[in-house]
Amino acid sequence: MKKPSGVILYHGPSALDQKRNIVVIATLSSKNRKTGNMVQVWILSKDTHPVQLSADKLDDVICGNCHHRQSLGGACYVNIGQAPAAVFNAYRRGLYPVYDPAIHAHLFKGRKVRLGAYGDPAAMPFEIAAHVVSLADGHTAYTHQQKHPGFDVRFLSLCMISADTPKQAAAAHAIGAKTFRIAVDITDKFDNEIQCLSDSNGTSCHDCGICKGSSAPVNIVIAVHGSRKGNFLNNRKAA
Ligand code: SF4
Repeated sequence: MKKPSGVILYHGPSALDQKRNIVVIATLSSKNRKTGNMVQVWILSKDTHPVQLSADKLDDVICGNCHHRQSLGGACYVNIGQAPAAVFNAYRRGLYPVYDPAIHAHLFKGRKVRLGAYGDPAAMPFEIAAHVVSLADGHTAYTHQQKHPGFDVRFLSLCMISADTPKQAAAAHAIGAKTFRIAVDITDKFDNEIQCLSDSNGTSCHDCGICKGSSAPVNIVIAVHGSRKGNFLNNRKAA
């Protein structure tokens, strides 16, 4: 049987809005230079093209409370019209089979998985994310949903909390979570933070793997970057 380029891990209600459906797709090969060749897990609307979803400001179904959404004028660095659109289009063309553990589990063995190449992992059922992570050799994941009413706190074991301020990071540390903090001044670090290894020495996430949730050995801080850096600075002032 020909190896698929990806599999559908889940389709059904979003944990962030039970009335709307999402689809969660794992694509098996990646040329992303920052992450390296990790399995990439995409959280998309089941019914609406990601560009349209953002234009209609309905992307809370996949991104929940994240105020970096481009639909809100935020700093999200994902080019929605490229990879997320390509994955959605391939899904609509029927390119991806529905995941069957008996047939597809081996595709994750020995691999590193990035949960949330687009969309927030907490939009999917925790059991799906935990299953994929249990098969893989390592993972990275980030969430903005710790204050969302639909947030399953078990995701703290898998995900770094994305923090935009030192205050947010300190609050997360107080409940035992690990953080991935975006900073304006990278020299202003907590004692329990180190700079993202991709930023400091070009290590890929595949080779680093620190960002794995509450069992991460340390918290991460990264300098604000990307073409929407100005939006981050403006939103931060408004926060
Ligand atoms: S700290 Fe490591 S795993 Fe986390 S984003 Fe940076 S390179 Fe990737």
